[in-house]
Amino acid sequence: MHARLRDYRPQAVALNAWTLTQSATGLGAVAAADPGEPSAELQHVLAGAGAVGSALLLTLWACQHVSGTISAADTDPKGVDVSNLNRCVPFHRTDLSRPKAIVSAERLSGHHGLTIEPYVGKAENLVGPRTHLISAIDTPEARQALQDAYPASTVQASTSGLRLEMLRVDPKAGTACLRCFNPPRAVVPDSRVRAQIADMDEATVMAHAEAIGADAQQVREWARTGGCGEIGDALLERLRPSDGRAAQFSVGFISVLAGVLLAGQVLKDAVRRPGNAPDLLADDVPLLGENARFVMNLIDPSTALAGVRRYGRDSECPACQGVRADVWAKRWTG
Ligand SMILES: [Zn+2]
Repeated sequence: MHARLRDYRPQAVALNAWTLTQSATGLGAVAAADPGEPSAELQHVLAGAGAVGSALLLTLWACQHVSGTISAADTDPKGVDVSNLNRCVPFHRTDLSRPKAIVSAERLSGHHGLTIEPYVGKAENLVGPRTHLISAIDTPEARQALQDAYPASTVQASTSGLRLEMLRVDPKAGTACLRCFNPPRAVVPDSRVRAQIADMDEATVMAHAEAIGADAQQVREWARTGGCGEIGDALLERLRPSDGRAAQFSVGFISVLAGVLLAGQVLKDAVRRPGNAPDLLADDVPLLGENARFVMNLIDPSTALAGVRRYGRDSECPACQGVRADVWAKRWTG
């Protein structure tokens, strides 16, 4: 097994998190625009206090002149687990099993006037037409639920392996919405998962049983009779491919970088709103308008696909067409 690529020579890359410019020739090329300490009053909802969301909160916590309230929603029933500790920077081992939203609020609230209000539940319950939304979750179902609330503004960041992307939706500029290019996955019915187990050989059943802390007979029994309960829940989580909880390859420092960039975008949008200090910010600093998306891939930072790009609508997306598009454009304030 090779933990590193053979014959791989890392490429240097410098990134200015404010202007989203990157360069392979060093910091000097990107460090020209320094916003100093931006001052902004935030009233936002954060969807997801996991790796990206907690890095965003930590970044805002470190900004002296940021005040206001962020309602941080996280619905993960397991709370902080061991695998979170290498990428959720604010969380400690003593936080294991506790809800991420509550731990984030306890640890990062009350500094420099920024308050974090925890909410253990689905973020869409907090999102209305006047909400400024920060999305740090990336299942198609969650994206659709948030988009269906048509908030006043939305920024989103997500990661996949060594790649990160950030999106600022803007119906007036014709950008993609949160639902675009992310159709909900079909839910596999329980009966199909049970039939799948019925067809398995004994060794496979035993392997699954061992993984969920049950024995093979209990697994066979659930395949025959179904029903709710711990064994059924564990098997569905393990075997159903479409429930969004399957393990994904995530890289701690990419999640943290995504959270930092997202915090920068939240601040840029906030200082542009009335009552803050828009003169801090040049008119064309992205993400803004059509320039809605930033992509970076540390496997190949210099790829032509990296950087700030236009990101138009998905013509198949039902969430941002027709009457829905009209409603959204009226609510959206940026
Ligand atoms: Zn759409």
